[in-house]
Amino acid sequence: MESTFIMIKPDGVQRGLIGEIISRFEKKGFYLKAMKFITVERSFAEKHYADLATKPFFGGLVEYIISGPVVAMVWEGKDVVATGRRIIGATRPWEASPGTIRGDFAVEVGRNVIHGSDAVESAQKEIALWFPEGVSE
Ligand code: ATP
Ligand code: MG
Repeated sequence: MESTFIMIKPDGVQRGLIGEIISRFEKKGFYLKAMKFITVERSFAEKHYADLATKPFFGGLVEYIISGPVVAMVWEGKDVVATGRRIIGATRPWEASPGTIRGDFAVEVGRNVIHGSDAVESAQKEIALWFPEGVSE
């Protein structure tokens, strides 16, 4: 079965959106396979967003991700990578439809509440990075 990596970013945690976000994935019918609450180091955040290293916002993005604890999760289900991205909504919250997480809870691209893997391959890489201890079946 397909899995994806979902992270509630520091603003989502600070604003008390953990339950709301987990609830949306659960009600959809996805299965929460692994979850942990952690604050990551700079080098780890840089690794997670390595593909964006040349972007002008990279430094600010890394500062944002290390600014407080995040909730790292693995969710499983049919087409969970693509469907998870639709539940999350567009990267820029002003383009995210109402009813999506970013459409309902975010206004700034630099504070967009949640991360979701963008492809099955990146999901596998991200799950291995964030859960090196493995994810039980
Ligand atoms: P994520 O990978 O966090 O799920 P995404 O896949 O929708 O988001 P990416 O292009 O991978 O979008 O960008 C990663 C993150 O970088 C965005 O979620 C956002 O927090 C930040 N970001 C993207 N573009 C900008 C920008 N122009 N200014 C500031 N931050 C940005
Ligand atoms: Mg991305």
